[in-house]
Amino acid sequence: MTSNYDPVSVLVDPVQAGLPSARLSPTQISQFRKCGLRYWFSYLVGWREPSTPALAAGTIVHDTLEGLYRLPNLDRTFDNAWQIMGNIGKELLAKPDYEHLNRGANLDEVRKRADLALTGYFEMENPLEVEVDLVDLESDVDADFGGVVFHGRLDRRTRNPVDRVTDYKTGKKPNGEQLDDYVQQVMFYAAAINNGSDPGVEEVELLFLPDRQVVRRPVYPAAVTRVIEILHETRQGIDQAYASNTWVAQPSRLCSYCPFKPVCPTQQKNAPQPGSDSSQNTLSQTGLTKKPAPAVVNSDELLPLDMD
Ligand code: SF4
Repeated sequence: MTSNYDPVSVLVDPVQAGLPSARLSPTQISQFRKCGLRYWFSYLVGWREPSTPALAAGTIVHDTLEGLYRLPNLDRTFDNAWQIMGNIGKELLAKPDYEHLNRGANLDEVRKRADLALTGYFEMENPLEVEVDLVDLESDVDADFGGVVFHGRLDRRTRNPVDRVTDYKTGKKPNGEQLDDYVQQVMFYAAAINNGSDPGVEEVELLFLPDRQVVRRPVYPAAVTRVIEILHETRQGIDQAYASNTWVAQPSRLCSYCPFKPVCPTQQKNAPQPGSDSSQNTLSQTGLTKKPAPAVVNSDELLPLDMD
């Protein structure tokens, strides 16, 4: 997808890894397709990817918009949103996993990004005019596609004048493959909802808040078929990789932001085998931490990777 170099199959030591998640979310699918080895480190071994100012701002703005839409219609003002955002931001940045972002340049960056996204949101939409039911806010979406289970959490669904699912993006609108990936991620939700007894979603929407850009796509049969195929391909790919302890590392420009770069065989000549004591110790020494449980079955507890 974002590949610049040939993929490399990497044999891992599975002793400290858990089972693959029984259900797949759009974030997991995207992560696995971009780099299987990074997926393995994050979701099976359970290393937490450290939060960044962009991710923290994304979480703050998503939670703010959810809080805003839970207010009575006439209270959905910018001032109230601003106040909600202040409270949510303080609470989030006080948590141990975000402590490093709660000072200096990092804090300035979180503030700048969150402010820009919230201001952009109010320039794109008037929340007093958006009809949204509480059940359609940050709601769980589950579906079973022929034994392959999907699970995700939807930002928002509105049903009037068009039945539409919306994903907020707190980063700028990309082009090319990255935009296709975002559209695909939101299309999974439409496919999952329409798979059940509620086949109503007609359109998917991405709101790129900082640069006030809207991307909409109709939910047409070929797009739905394609995302279901991707879901099946991903499930099969993960299960095969798990069975063989061999995961595909896909070097790309994203390696620059990958916390596993110090132990990745595509980046380091004498990298230890992923999962070995030596690999694990090196990652600990870089400051990475792990979730307490060895098996990360419910990956939705991990920091979201698609919030920007
Ligand atoms: S450094 Fe690159 S190739 Fe290696 S795990 Fe990270 S994203 Fe994958």
